Amino acid sequence: MTETLTTTPMVKAEAVSKSYGSNEVLKSISLEVARGEVLCLVGPSGSGKSTFLRCINHLETINAGRLSVDGELVGYRQHGDKIYEMHPKEAAKQRRDIGMVFQRFNLFPHKTALENVMMAPTLLKKGSKAALQSRAMELLARVGLADRHDYYPAHLSGGQQQRVAIARALAMDPKLMLFDEPTSALDPELVGEVLDVMKGLAESGMTMIVVTHEMGFAKQVADKLVFMDGGVVVESGDPVEVLTNPQRERTKAFLSKVL
Ligand code: ADP
Ligand code: MG
Repeated sequence: MTETLTTTPMVKAEAVSKSYGSNEVLKSISLEVARGEVLCLVGPSGSGKSTFLRCINHLETINAGRLSVDGELVGYRQHGDKIYEMHPKEAAKQRRDIGMVFQRFNLFPHKTALENVMMAPTLLKKGSKAALQSRAMELLARVGLADRHDYYPAHLSGGQQQRVAIARALAMDPKLMLFDEPTSALDPELVGEVLDVMKGLAESGMTMIVVTHEMGFAKQVADKLVFMDGGVVVESGDPVEVLTNPQRERTKAFLSKVL
């Protein structure tokens, strides 16, 4: 190892490919996300954005290339020059360090906001009930929902539910957060409150990959923007630069539709 801890990227994809049968969905994707960096991933529907996030989280297995999180191969162990598939338990442990927030909030409907946030750390016996409860309350306060801790999801707005989902992901103390179109299912007036929470998280130093069509957020918060189309990275760079001065025709065509 020549890399030091601080220079190891949080995410490193090297020529990552993924196929479903004969459909090659990711075609040699290479990118890096440094610690504390926010990367926005944009592109048309079907371009492979969700698949890429699912590979990082090892919900999917890649077919070629190398993918590592925090210097460790995703789903594999390396001993010398040999590479072994991880035991499912070990893979699950690796996945716990990565928080994921989806378009749909997927909260447990029969549990309160507080219970939703406490659930995973409770199952994993991460501390006493009192300690986990006070930590969960802190997280709800962080997403602006301390006063709603005993509400059930059905009695929260979509924006509030999504903020609970973010608090729930944070409860596992992730080193990386993946967001897959977290505001796409929300009424327009509720988008801002979720983006504000994500912005606060970015400012606190969290490493994040955000699939979004919110170009204002990308410009303001992201360190890097990657435009994907047809399973390839078409263009990437400084968000303001890419958004205001796209170099490739495909990027221009896409941006003319979403901006
Ligand atoms: P995006 O998130 O950019 O809209 P996806 O990653 O969801 O794109 O999908 C990319 C392509 O992969 C699409 O053609 C989709 O039909 C295909 N795909 C996604 N998931 C699966 C799956 N589980 N099985 C087969 N094909 C899939
Ligand atoms: Mg998607």
